[in-house]
Amino acid sequence: MRDARMLLRALGVERAVLEDVRWERPEVAVQALVVRVRPIQRESGRCPDCGRRCPRFDRGDGVRRWRAPNFGLAKAYVEAEAPRVQCREHGVVVQRAPWARKSSRFTSVFEDQLAWLAVRTDKTTLANLLQVAWRTVGAILERVAESMRRVRDPFEGVTRIGIDEVSYRKGHRYLTIVVDHDTGRLLWATPGKDEAALRRFFDELGPQRSARIRFVSTDAGSAFLKVVRERCPNAKHCLDPFHIVQWATRALDAVRRTVWNQLRRTGQKKRAKALKGARWALWKNHGDLNPAQQLTLANIERDNQPLFRAYLLKEELRSVFQETDSALAKRTLDDWLKWASRSRLLPFVKLARSIRQHRVAIDDVIDHGLSNARLEAAATKLRLLTRLAFGFHAHEPLVALAMLRLGGLCPALPSRP
Ligand SMILES: [Zn+2]
Repeated sequence: MRDARMLLRALGVERAVLEDVRWERPEVAVQALVVRVRPIQRESGRCPDCGRRCPRFDRGDGVRRWRAPNFGLAKAYVEAEAPRVQCREHGVVVQRAPWARKSSRFTSVFEDQLAWLAVRTDKTTLANLLQVAWRTVGAILERVAESMRRVRDPFEGVTRIGIDEVSYRKGHRYLTIVVDHDTGRLLWATPGKDEAALRRFFDELGPQRSARIRFVSTDAGSAFLKVVRERCPNAKHCLDPFHIVQWATRALDAVRRTVWNQLRRTGQKKRAKALKGARWALWKNHGDLNPAQQLTLANIERDNQPLFRAYLLKEELRSVFQETDSALAKRTLDDWLKWASRSRLLPFVKLARSIRQHRVAIDDVIDHGLSNARLEAAATKLRLLTRLAFGFHAHEPLVALAMLRLGGLCPALPSRP
């Protein structure tokens, strides 16, 4: 009796009674452990949707199997009868298995372990270690994310949000994402980048919680603005510092292209070629440059003053949104505007003009200390994630993985709460 309980506990099977244990497939070196159980009395005959006790309907498809965490080197399975019950609300359904999520052929503990690994390791490691197909992984992640959402409300206490779009699958498809400015957590991700996508977020958030939102940041001229005004009556709208820095990066790239074209036209092929490879050195944040990129940058400083000036302008604008003293940040921005206007670099002259146009909204961002770093970090991580999730054919598993990894929904490792 005590051994039976210990075995079930070791496999993470709860609220069950052990009926039989056996080894299967005697022809292979490492056999599979099959543990036959039934739900404890109090758990049997319940509807998987509402948990209500229901009358038995029939025996369903008979015995069913769920994959459990490995028993040492052997695969392990939980086996049980899976009769159908008749719920007055949900109709005829297979009764709830206390050790597994609805419609899953894996135990909850196995799924939690898999989700924990999926947010920390790569696809091949995970699939090999747990011996599951990648397709199955996607379905499991969706189930885990969904059930964690019911346990931990990700929207609780949210008052300041940032809305953005991220491309995946080499820019062909988009996700609309919502980030909590205070915790840096991903709150929501959904396919598409239109008003309908954002409306789905506010539908889920509900009118009461929407009314509690005080700040919403988006890109300038975003398609989301209309929905924000409609659904968040009490929110102040600001521009995302992340996007303002992106404008500067674009201006810098325009300068680089002009310089490159000039060099090519005047036959300085070698210098033009060097510049083409310089794109990343110019784009990256200065602190993130590797030694080779630092050298590239030093060469640009020596050979190409206009381009180096453009680079400094980009970095200086970025520093405005990293300054924690808002008065100092605004003074730095004033100086930056003068500098950019006189830079004789057309893209930056234009950029200074549009920043002046949006100055009120930008000062709001500075006053309320919306962190550029957080949105930037979330967007970067999400892009990395899309690479991991590349093998998924639909967006649902990608969204689930994003929520588990960036939304704080990942379950703790079973047995280590
Ligand atoms: Zn029911």
